[in-house]
Amino acid sequence: MLASRAISGTLRDDPGDAVVASHRLMIRAGLVRKLGSGLYHLLPMGLRSFRKIEGIIREEMNATGALEFQLPILTPSELWQTSGRWEAMGREMFRLKDRHDQYNVLGPTHEEAFTQLLGGLLHSYRDLPRNVYQIHTKFRDEIRPRFGVIRSREFVMKDAYSFDLDEAGLETTYQSMRRAYRRIFARLGLETIPVEADSGSMGGSGSEEFMVASEIGEETLLLSEGGQYRGNQEKTPVLYSQDAKPKGKATTQLSELELVATPGCRTIEQVVEFMKVPASAIAKTVLYRADETLVGVVLRADRQVNEVKLKNALGAISLEPASEADIVSLGSVPGYIAPLGLGDTRLLWDASLNTAPEFVIGSNQKDHHCRGFVPNPSRESQDLALAVAGDPSPTGDGLLREMKGIEVGHIFKLGYKYTKAFNVSVLGEDGRPVVPIMGCYGIGVNRSMATIIEQWHDEKGIRWPISAAPFELCLVGIARGEDEQARVREVYEGLLAAGCEVLWDDRDARPGVKFNDAELIGFPLRLTLGKGYFEKGEAELSLRQSGEQRKLTGDVASVVRGVLLAREELHRELRQAADSLEEALS
Ligand code: ATP
Ligand code: MG
Repeated sequence: MLASRAISGTLRDDPGDAVVASHRLMIRAGLVRKLGSGLYHLLPMGLRSFRKIEGIIREEMNATGALEFQLPILTPSELWQTSGRWEAMGREMFRLKDRHDQYNVLGPTHEEAFTQLLGGLLHSYRDLPRNVYQIHTKFRDEIRPRFGVIRSREFVMKDAYSFDLDEAGLETTYQSMRRAYRRIFARLGLETIPVEADSGSMGGSGSEEFMVASEIGEETLLLSEGGQYRGNQEKTPVLYSQDAKPKGKATTQLSELELVATPGCRTIEQVVEFMKVPASAIAKTVLYRADETLVGVVLRADRQVNEVKLKNALGAISLEPASEADIVSLGSVPGYIAPLGLGDTRLLWDASLNTAPEFVIGSNQKDHHCRGFVPNPSRESQDLALAVAGDPSPTGDGLLREMKGIEVGHIFKLGYKYTKAFNVSVLGEDGRPVVPIMGCYGIGVNRSMATIIEQWHDEKGIRWPISAAPFELCLVGIARGEDEQARVREVYEGLLAAGCEVLWDDRDARPGVKFNDAELIGFPLRLTLGKGYFEKGEAELSLRQSGEQRKLTGDVASVVRGVLLAREELHRELRQAADSLEEALS
């Protein structure tokens, strides 16, 4: 392609609303432009890269035997009613009414549609296992779209759905997807860490997220010292090293307790300071509005509520902190809530309360706390707290440490939720119907693209792995006059004929401008033909990722050979990374 015929869209200045490198660079390099909140246009350069990523995902999915489909993005609301997710998906799901007053959904994911479709296509046990997928647009009305295409409202996902005869079959399919995912990301130059994850509104028994370690990651991963445990913080169970029996009789009323004046002590820190007790000896009551009902969580004041665990425990769709007015409506006072005297408000007791014999609690009165609260030992306690770095590893191999990560993919064992809801069954070997067991597997294509840039950039711009670059090579000629320009064209045509993806920057611009753009867009290879080439046949090849410079000498054919060699080296490196990872996994 000729740069003089392109629409480049590169910008000199950073866009004002971009806070992370990938967002800034995608805009500046002319890969995307913003249309609105969480909405991005893909420009030609960005689309080329996007297609490369899509291509690698497709190749690896096809290699596992998965079959590609394409389903409508718009799905009738009945599908979602059938699965129960019309309610469960909450406000993230775009719903729209058509002219016949029928509701439709802009698919945020496609379990329902695929299950219903496959129900009509799978007939006998011989038709299983099958794994089907598409690479298609998804819509999610994210509360906070941000970081450019990392969290947008319209994006493309590779979503796959597997159907197996039994759990053992699902396990095999799941493991093959796990391997395919690691290969896909390795080929894209991304190192991923699979971590245990919450299954969210998908339902099902187990799931793993593929994380790329990154400072800007929105996910917190907890990894054990011994290397056995890797989990999302949302999912990680909290273990306590100490265990204490309650001291004496369980408290049933606030009036049994010693009331202590704690003027102005609304926060835990203030109570710790004023009463000279550690936060681990205080029990706090945190109130939430879960699907409109008020509920309270009682936990040690040095711990935070894990809202994902809480949502799962309640089976709630929406969860928000209760308002000050809610607290007052229960006869309490913000900052001084007690886990007693709240009427018939449902309270959930966190397992952290089993670690001390008694606690300081609120009093439901301003400026006062109560001392000596003894939790009822027969109460049901559950794990509702957020695990943090320094906690014991759930697998017993030392302590946990923390890392930030970007989730690029997610694999789930779904179980029977959707096949049962849609009455899918096949004829078993013994002539009786069998309900297939499902898995589902997602990769965000745009998010993967941004994550590659997040991992591979420097102060000058993007440093694409060759597998995902918009062009493999940028040709820059510093030619004076027609003859020299003709010699650059000769090399360009030689490269094209050899199957190299080359962008010839033939614009009438200063070399500095061309070099800067090439570095900003981040082509893995840049071939420069300047004075050295025209006078002595010496071309210069720059490798963007390693910073290596190579002299290529000789006629057009040997310069082209030098480029192809470097190109092959770069491709080979990525393929080998994928192969060796696969070996390590099997
Ligand atoms: P998150 O926790 O980041 O919202 P999720 O758990 O909702 O992600 P899944 O439902 O598992 O995501 O979707 C599969 C993949 O789709 C994710 O791993 C991610 O790569 C991509 N994805 C999800 N939401 C978005 C979004 N708003 N913008 C871009 N990509 C997304
Ligand atoms: Mg999400």
